[in-house]
Amino acid sequence: MDDGINQLRRGYEHAVDYLTTERSVSPSSSSLDALSALSGEFPDVGSEGSETLDLLASIGSPATVRSNGPRYFGFVTGGAQPVAMGAAALASAWDQNGALPAMSPAASTLDETAARWMIDALVLPPTSTGVFCGGASEANLIGLIAARDAVLHRAGWDVPGHGLAGAPVITVITSAEAHVSATKAVALAGLGRDRIVTVPTDHQGAMDPAAFAAVAQEGFSGPTIVILQAGNVNTGDSDPFADVIPLATEHGAWVHIDGAFGLWAAAAPERAGLVAGAELADSWAVDAHKWLNVNYDSALAIVADGAALARSMRADAAYLPDTGERAPMHLGLQMSQRARGIETWAALRTLGRTGVAEMIERCCALAARFAEQLTVAGAEVLHDVVLNQALVSFGTDEMTSAVIDAVQADGTCWVGGTTWQGRRAMRISVSGWETAESDVDLSAEAIVRCWGRLRS
Ligand SMILES: *Cc1c(COP(=O)(O)O)cnc(C)c1O
Repeated sequence: MDDGINQLRRGYEHAVDYLTTERSVSPSSSSLDALSALSGEFPDVGSEGSETLDLLASIGSPATVRSNGPRYFGFVTGGAQPVAMGAAALASAWDQNGALPAMSPAASTLDETAARWMIDALVLPPTSTGVFCGGASEANLIGLIAARDAVLHRAGWDVPGHGLAGAPVITVITSAEAHVSATKAVALAGLGRDRIVTVPTDHQGAMDPAAFAAVAQEGFSGPTIVILQAGNVNTGDSDPFADVIPLATEHGAWVHIDGAFGLWAAAAPERAGLVAGAELADSWAVDAHKWLNVNYDSALAIVADGAALARSMRADAAYLPDTGERAPMHLGLQMSQRARGIETWAALRTLGRTGVAEMIERCCALAARFAEQLTVAGAEVLHDVVLNQALVSFGTDEMTSAVIDAVQADGTCWVGGTTWQGRRAMRISVSGWETAESDVDLSAEAIVRCWGRLRS
């Protein structure tokens, strides 16, 4: 074991070294070329573990994208708070299977507590049931499976028993801006992507409540699921829950909210208005690995009616003890599973309610600061910056694409691109715990510098 412990130490030394070394946000082409040292044939003969770790650090680390750093604004990824990384290290040593309380009382307690705290932080109904899973994509699928089975259960049809063949057809309604993972979940749940009824959106990408009301007024034909969104991936804005949800539920629909990052607005009092009414839904998907800045992979699927979730997910067998306690394997897709709640527990305990609110608010303020500095420099912000997202045009689509490429090559920061309402845009997402005003200033400067070079 001594040798094993040395390997463990070596791994953590490399981890600390990685995090304390200043490096370009995007890897150099030479460090990418060097990756070939990791991708040879499967060796016949093994090596020393410490040598494997040294190789990983010397070749792997320089070829990473520094997304776990203060100047990464691509996608909406967030970093990982040190306390979450520390908890992950301990959890990895524990190597607990989170499937059943009998497998790990510690993991079970932490998982249940983390789920409860997250539901609390997001101001969702405290009687809801949450289950950790690999990401909001999986959480969307879990929510939609529960939704599908519940609306058909109400119609007298048992999906887990009879399947979907011959079942009443379910109507699925989303906005035109639904995330691909939500429409993928519709397909995976057997509800048919092509059958989705699409409601138009406004200039911020939020569902038009009048258009939804018109759809509802015609009456839903049969069992219906409405999928709404907290946090449009481009603008960060949310569907008008307080207008849409009461109308949907009045007509007997199940409402699911894909709130991967945007639902965290609920945890920050100054932003909570953006998602007012979200608590009226039946199920929610929200990531911990994005804006809460917890390690991959971690999200929570939340269902207001826990019994409905359990009806879909329960899997009993003679060898599995049923203690009547909460068991993640009876609430989600996985059986054996990483005890994911541990890092979220550590992050939430350390931040507290005010710390979470402060982190969310800070990212939003920094996105606004970004937008303002780029506006002052002559760029055009394409939407109202209400959350952590800013979409910026540098004139023509060609110029905007060229600026994005130049910024990615420059290495000061990393930003992505998107197309928003027909125009090419730089997509800036501020979701890292570590980002400070100085990082935004430095990054905005680098963007303006790259743009200036292209213009001259
Ligand atoms: C990121 C995202 C998802 C998918 O989440 P994963 O954790 O990557 O699976 C779903 N919906 C929205 C709105 C997102 O931003």
